[in-house]
Amino acid sequence: MTEIMERAAAKINLSLDALYVHPDGLHEWKMVMTCVDLHDTVRITTRRDARICVRTDSMFLPDDQRNLAFQAATLLQQEFAPNQGVTIDIEKHIPVSAGMGGGSADAAAVLRALNRLWQLNLSRAELAQRALVLDSDVPFCVYSETALVTGRGEIVTPLQATPDCWFVIAKPPVAVSTPRILSAASTPEELPHPNTETVIAGIQNQDLTLMASGMGNSLEAITENRIGEIRRIRQKMKQFGAITAQMTGSGPTVFGIAATHSRAQRIYNGLRGFCPEVYVVRPLKNQLKEQEMKHGI
Ligand code: ATP
Repeated sequence: MTEIMERAAAKINLSLDALYVHPDGLHEWKMVMTCVDLHDTVRITTRRDARICVRTDSMFLPDDQRNLAFQAATLLQQEFAPNQGVTIDIEKHIPVSAGMGGGSADAAAVLRALNRLWQLNLSRAELAQRALVLDSDVPFCVYSETALVTGRGEIVTPLQATPDCWFVIAKPPVAVSTPRILSAASTPEELPHPNTETVIAGIQNQDLTLMASGMGNSLEAITENRIGEIRRIRQKMKQFGAITAQMTGSGPTVFGIAATHSRAQRIYNGLRGFCPEVYVVRPLKNQLKEQEMKHGI
């Protein structure tokens, strides 16, 4: 029996721009995304039979074909290893339905793990290309490093790591349906648009203030109109000293940026009584890249 562990890191959208809607109903995106050091752990164990089994420690998650990790394993099994089964154990830490890409991160971790386990030698680009059918965030999660993401989510252009900073992440106790928010965003010309180029320039120059000045999320106002807490959390974060604060993905999670740990701690303390789920995290540097170099992918 062989066992492989993979980390599945949560993502945040430093910028999210909805450009237009394709005839197939999918959005054309332009997003700068990064990962933070809040992660699920995915353990893959080989089986004697050809079944794919998912086990999670969360009662809110499906453990059958509805789980994105299951779908990811099925995808590679059908193409490369029809007789080889695996058990996938997911230790969940990323908030669910939060806009932090938890399901996509788990699916991407399964793709990376099976690529190693079955010695498929697929490049990240080859894995990402297959990943789009699972969810628009999975290609990015295959890379799990700061990147510009365009197309329907399948074009991932890695960038430098973000300038050093702290993120305070607050998830209000409500779930958001991404499909509902996306259908309300069917006329992107009416939505606000971030300045993606400024975000990228801030990253390239390692200038946190410049990066923050270009940030924005086209979907924020839509979700905020349904869940008023989002606006209040953003305001509180700024009041306690965040350089900026915005929603990630389709929400409802909000993150604030601080240049120092003490400032992040102040924002965290200010939010604790107000929002039940608050985290202080750092950007995930390019650990996956290093891991891949070690494994020769
Ligand atoms: P998205 O914006 O893609 O919907 P999200 O980050 O807002 O993602 P997720 O935590 O990925 O939210 O969960 C979205 C949905 O995916 C939930 O309904 C959940 O039941 C389902 N799901 C399937 N597999 C997983 C998984 N492994 N982890 C979390 N959610 C999963």
